[in-house]
Order: sequence, then structure tokens, then C-alpha cells
Amino acid sequence: MPRPATRAVHGSDRKDTTFNSVMTPLYPSSTFYFDRLGENKGFDYTRSGNPTRRVLEDTLASLEGGSACVCTATGMAAVVGVLHLLKPGDHVITGNDIYGGSYRLMHEVFSRYDIRFDFLDMTDPENVRSALADNTALIWIETPSNPMLRLVDIQAITAIARERQILAAVDNTFMSPYFQRPFELGADIIVHSTTKYINGHSDVVGGAIITNRPDLDERIAFITNACGLTESPWDAWLVLRGVQSLAQRMEAHAATAAKIAMYLNQHPKVKQTYYPGLESHPQIDLARKQMSGFGGMVSFDIEADKGKLDTFFSALRYFKLAESLGGVESLIESPWYMSHTSMSEQARRDAGIKPGTIRVSVGLEHADDLIEDLEHGLSTI
Ligand SMILES: *Cc1c(COP(=O)(O)O)cnc(C)c1O
Repeated sequence: MPRPATRAVHGSDRKDTTFNSVMTPLYPSSTFYFDRLGENKGFDYTRSGNPTRRVLEDTLASLEGGSACVCTATGMAAVVGVLHLLKPGDHVITGNDIYGGSYRLMHEVFSRYDIRFDFLDMTDPENVRSALADNTALIWIETPSNPMLRLVDIQAITAIARERQILAAVDNTFMSPYFQRPFELGADIIVHSTTKYINGHSDVVGGAIITNRPDLDERIAFITNACGLTESPWDAWLVLRGVQSLAQRMEAHAATAAKIAMYLNQHPKVKQTYYPGLESHPQIDLARKQMSGFGGMVSFDIEADKGKLDTFFSALRYFKLAESLGGVESLIESPWYMSHTSMSEQARRDAGIKPGTIRVSVGLEHADDLIEDLEHGLSTI
């Protein structure tokens, strides 16, 4: 099997035979004509299938080691697609620090259809076992968590799911298939916000659902078509351009993030640094076991009120004050005042988020420039 860097470029064996175009052509056509009744070239309508999007889907399925993939309009559309596998009366177990948008979708939308969600601390697999009920139908895993970078033991939890024939889905957005491959750890479904590392250039929103079982492959294709969740060919073409450099970008993100984490970890004004690759991370052994790299996200705590945070952020030259992550450019943000405001103050504290917690998405700039930037910023507070 070719290595991930090769699969990112050659993950699909579909070739353009019309003009021998080396790169995948963009087919924005909404509809495809039939040569005669019942005979076409495998595509009839772009909501259900599109040749440009299909190359991206083949590539992501190959990177994750799945048998099928559907690319969706956003990461949230991918989550919606998976939740439509459920029916009224079902019970779902998930983490108490999952992506805020997924929490909102479960708690405020799907819960209205008589589906019950338990949001619990999944760092201990025994909590999951204790929450199992006769009607538990899905365990939703996200690891590492955002912004505290806590880990969930994918293999331990998918084993619990398997015993009870419950579906196990993993949101693999933070690691990308380059550093974490949930199917090898027992997952049934993988979801991505391709908006983040897979596209990697902060210029498109998109998502993906990857499966590795014929019944799920078929059901997800049906649901995404029936609900109209699929991605525009324009967007798919951009994501395809981005994903081809996934291996090189992830290596660079992780190498620079490790340097930044070590720098922050020894800084007198930084109270705590959170990065799965730091020796001080309480789950470093699990990180080494289930991830092949530690990613590009770093969080840290400083002693600061809103005014001080503002001073710090304003002093930075390269880190842009913005939500989102996974792009070529470094971003910095305050989970307390920005990305996690949909959580109650108590819920934020329970998750370990403090007013002085800062989250960084490390970009592809030179590590020394980024460290100098942080050094200057920290000197102003
Ligand atoms: C961003 C994100 C999502 C949602 O993706 P969108 O593309 O913004 O809809 C889901 N899960 C995680 C972990 C994310 O970071």
C-alpha cells in the first residue's frame, strides 16, 4: 500500500481521458446527459454524485483506509449526515468537551426528535461503559478535545461499542488521517471538517463522512443525497488541491507546534501549556499509542483579564485573532471570550477552560518568527 504522502496525491485512480489533463478537471455541471435511455457515464445529477467531488472522496477514503466517502457542504453537514442514522428513542454517548457546533446540533436540534444525548468525560472509558443503555445506538468520539487537548482512548471505547453492537463514530478533524487513523482502532465512521487541515488554506468550508462497511457506505450515500448535504464541485476542487500537500503540511504544523509548546512550557508568564506531545501531558502514553504525530494545536493559560488578553493579542504581528484552525497561517484566540461562548460559564470551567486560556493554531511560518512574536506579546503584559 502506498504511503500517506503518495495517497494524498494518487488516492484516486480516476484519470481524465478526454484531454489527458494532469490535474482533476472541475465539473460544475449540475446534470449529466444519458447516451441513451439507462446509459450514462456513472453520474446523473451533482447532488447525488459529481466527478470532481468523487476524486476528492476517493482520496479521503484512501487516506483513512475506508471503503467509501461522501464529501459534504460543511463539517456540520457531515455530523448531520451521521446523526440521521439514528431514529426516535435512540440514545447517544459523547464527550462533554466536543466541538461546540456538534454539541449545539445534538443538544438543540436532534434532541427535539426524541433522541437522548449524554455528554460525559470520556477520558475514562469506564464512564462510557456506565452510561450504556439498552437503546444506546451511537458513541461519538472526538480526540484530542478542543481547546484543552485531552485524549479519548479510541480503541478502548470502540471495543465497548463492538461488544454491544453500537456504532462508534470519530470526528478526526484535529489530527487528520495523517496523524490518526480511527478505522485501525475499531471505528465504524469517521467525520471531518475539511475546512481545517484537509483543505488547509482557510479558503473553503467542507466536510466528509468516511465509512468502511458496505451497509454504512450505502446508507450514508442515501442520507446525504436525500437530505441534500453534499459538497459543491467548486469547493471539492479546492479541497482536492489542498489535501495533496496534507503530509508535508502536517509534518510542518506539528514540528513548529512542538517547538512553540516547549517555549511556552518554560515561560514564567505561562501557567500551563497543553500539547499532547509534551512529556507533562497526562496522557502522553496514549498519545504515542494512537497518534503518529501530535498535531498543530497548542493551548496555554496565562493570568489575564479581558484587558490584558486584548493587549497581548494586539501586540502580535503574525498570529491573527480568529477562530478556526488548520490553515497555513497561525491563528490565536480566547476560548473563554470567543469560540466557547455557547457553553455556560460553569460548563466552560468544568471543561477546564479559564478566562486566561489561549488557543493557538500553529501555521506554516518559521518557528523562530512565531516564537519571537509570542515573546514580544508576552512582554507587553
Ligand atoms: C470546525 C469543526 C467542525 C465543524 O465544521 P464546519 O466545517 O465549521 O462546519 C466539526 N468538528 C470539529 C472538531 C471542528 O473543528
